[in-house]
Amino acid sequence: MLFKTDGVVLKQTKFGEGDVILTLFAKKLGKIQAVAKGAKKSRGKYTGSTQPFAYGEFVLFKGRDLYQVSQADLKESFYRLREDITKLAYGAYILELTESIITEGQTNNRLFHALLHCLEVLTTLERDYETVVKAYELKLLYYSGYKPELDRCVHCGSRKGKEFKFSSREGGILCRICFGQDLFAMKISQTTINVMKYLMHSDLKQIARLKIKADVMEELNKILKHYISTHLEKNKFKSIEFLNVIRETHNI
Ligand SMILES: [Zn+2]
Repeated sequence: MLFKTDGVVLKQTKFGEGDVILTLFAKKLGKIQAVAKGAKKSRGKYTGSTQPFAYGEFVLFKGRDLYQVSQADLKESFYRLREDITKLAYGAYILELTESIITEGQTNNRLFHALLHCLEVLTTLERDYETVVKAYELKLLYYSGYKPELDRCVHCGSRKGKEFKFSSREGGILCRICFGQDLFAMKISQTTINVMKYLMHSDLKQIARLKIKADVMEELNKILKHYISTHLEKNKFKSIEFLNVIRETHNI
């Protein structure tokens, strides 16, 4: 049986002599693995469409166990992500994060388009990648059913008060009266709450121009890291470890 679908290559793994296994975010099939025969040998055959980040139209044949790529037409390689090592590491994180949340057989068009848009914006940026990456994290959580409650207390529903904490376990902000619901709830300022809402709902191109203050970014980073590791049950990202190594060596 043949399937034709747009897809983004999230990962490429060597397979045998000249073949590779692609992990694809396929628009019509969700997360799938597909063998691209001869992708390592005959260079011209898939014209770059089997590299990570590649966005293309794939014709897939469903074998007994795995899909097989019978044709792939590259639409965009996002090649310029590779011109800066920090940018590349953030791009790799975007792919790794997306792979960890999508599942086989489950389509998610909003996330698919957000991923493409994020790679597109990241490609054109020269600096300040972090804001766009934080926005993508929030959009990914939202579109995958993990939208954090930021408008009212997630426990009692109250909108009153000026002091809130963020509870990853409860899935949103807690009002002062409900602080006791989660002893691990983290400090969150009203500015961080507003920034999170803005990042979740605004266009990435606009977001890319936003300057976030260092203390707000620090709080946001801490909260999102904890929230993602609580709900995705994944707290080790190879790309983030790599990014930390770059930061240490280049002192940035
Ligand atoms: Zn409450």
